Amino acid sequence: MSNTTAFDALTAAWTNEELHDVNAAFYGRPPEELLSWAAECFGQQLVLTCSFGGASGMVLLDMVARLGTGTPILFLDTNLLFPETYALAELAARRYNVKIEHREPALTLAQQNYAEGPNLYARNPDRCCGIRKVAPLAKALRPYNAWISGIRRDQASTRAATDLVQWSSRHNLLKISPLAYWSEQDVWRYIHAHNVPYNRLLDQGYTSLGCEPCTQPSASHDLRAGRWAGLAKTECGIHL
Ligand code: SF4
Repeated sequence: MSNTTAFDALTAAWTNEELHDVNAAFYGRPPEELLSWAAECFGQQLVLTCSFGGASGMVLLDMVARLGTGTPILFLDTNLLFPETYALAELAARRYNVKIEHREPALTLAQQNYAEGPNLYARNPDRCCGIRKVAPLAKALRPYNAWISGIRRDQASTRAATDLVQWSSRHNLLKISPLAYWSEQDVWRYIHAHNVPYNRLLDQGYTSLGCEPCTQPSASHDLRAGRWAGLAKTECGIHL
């Protein structure tokens, strides 16, 4: 489909009709086509976030690098990630020859411990995620008009309504989820077909990766069961 001329893409909130048109136009088509359209539409106002935990983000990083659009890439570092996650971010930067923007919370861990007490994640994980994930992401996304995310419908009931493009009123931008309709099998098929690097903890019983204190291996069919195990919490808040 043609791009910006059909939509006031760069500033105003998209209408339901505009979103419907784009979702209908790209449904069932390869994610690369949506990524290509988004890059043409938004240029450097488009950003990809990659956690270097889940495999979906690595698929998108690979696709973006292959397209050669120069789309900015953001890595949100909570300072509590697994060593394997940091190692993958470094490896990916070399492999794809891309600059990965590293963003951290306003408070260091020591400052947070001083202000909130130690191990906030164990006492009030929502507040901890608010400080170390939600607020830093909101700040990092501020310069952009569109955000590419790796979330998929099959990951959790909270993500079952994910569409290819959605308006985020929280961030005042277009949220683009090119893998919204992909399955876990689709992701791994792509990873193996293109020899995409991925977090080695995914070979060790982890099905979803976040911060080290809040993530454990899981044999559940629920891909996010190993996150905040034992608590009702299933989302850090950045995709709500
Ligand atoms: S996942 Fe855990 S450690 Fe990480 S920000 Fe959330 S509560 Fe804190």
